[in-house]
Amino acid sequence: MASASTDLLHRERFCAKRTHLITESVIREMSRLATKHNAVNLAQGFPDFAAPQIIKEAAQKAIADDINQYAITWGAKPFRDAIAAKYRRHYNLDFDPEREITVCCGSTEGMIASLLAITNPGDEVIIFEPFYENFGPDTMLCQAERKFVTLHAPDWKFDKAELRKAFSPKTKAIIINSPGNPTGHVLDREQLEYIAELCQEFDAIAITDEIYEHILYDGAKHIPMMSIPGMRDRTLLINSMSKTYAVTGWRVGWVLGAPDLTQSVRKVHDFLTVGAAAPLQAAGVTALGLPDDYYTEVADHYRDRRDRMASMLTKAGFRCSIPKGAYYIMADISGFNRGDDVTFVKDLVERVGIAAVPGSSFFSNPELGKDWVRFCFPKKNETLDEAERRLAKL
Ligand code: GLN
Repeated sequence: MASASTDLLHRERFCAKRTHLITESVIREMSRLATKHNAVNLAQGFPDFAAPQIIKEAAQKAIADDINQYAITWGAKPFRDAIAAKYRRHYNLDFDPEREITVCCGSTEGMIASLLAITNPGDEVIIFEPFYENFGPDTMLCQAERKFVTLHAPDWKFDKAELRKAFSPKTKAIIINSPGNPTGHVLDREQLEYIAELCQEFDAIAITDEIYEHILYDGAKHIPMMSIPGMRDRTLLINSMSKTYAVTGWRVGWVLGAPDLTQSVRKVHDFLTVGAAAPLQAAGVTALGLPDDYYTEVADHYRDRRDRMASMLTKAGFRCSIPKGAYYIMADISGFNRGDDVTFVKDLVERVGIAAVPGSSFFSNPELGKDWVRFCFPKKNETLDEAERRLAKL
């Protein structure tokens, strides 16, 4: 085992400055703590129930059929065709599989590859906050300057004047995540049109993480930024199989964009990862071809869990912000008078046996998140039953 002094020496001598800026993911750390304390993991957002049988069988068959070597770097042709067909079917958007689609290792790679593909050090990138944790390190690794724009509770809307103020001639991109993690907000057409106007006025690109597109409640509708007039060729649309098909461990995602932008994304992607798992792309053809009923069932399934989670958290003393989409609940802990989010979450995992994510990991300034804790609910009924029993200990 290396000594502490060697560690320090190595950090100073060998570890790049860019790695000093970023810290370990709190979300992933909470998953490890959940295992350590044998806690119910309501931290990292992934389902604990089975993935659809038909998709699993398609993956098994692909391996048995020897689809086991590299796919084309930017994605196997049948999978790119399936992606194009899905966007035509759901949004009437047309993509050229040869020039506008890049398959990558999850939307996590899609986001960093897109940012690396379009930003130069010093370019400004606008991020709504609270934001999904990865957007922080992603932009730091690109040495972009970040401008944060607040989504105001309780309905998590941005203020138009504040957003306009964040744009400048140096703005290269704005990151949009709707339905959003962690707040569950869903941008409506009016908000999207306002962002679109600013992108065009300041000649900026929208990078949209649309991974929760099918997880919507109470009649909320997902509108891809690309379908807003003027935005088709100035948007990079990112999505993945993870959430819609309950296969977060497969790491299969995609980036859609105009040919010149795609060419740049493909170059970065190629040298980062070469490609996503070939047999899982083959199974993706089956997944993306599932009938519309599947998507309705997904939304219904998560709505039941959202309602259940909101009611049990409320009963336990939290003030919940009810999400319109995605599968997280932001819960206000100020009523407990038990310290900040980090202290609260530590006690929750160690004493109560439930892992959650401290709100501060979704804000540029931790102070802004001190009253919030995020719980995720893509879980089996038994898991939620156990969480409910443990919440009584609060
Ligand atoms: N998106 C999920 C979350 O916010 C998981 C992200 C991840 O760990 N890759 O919890």
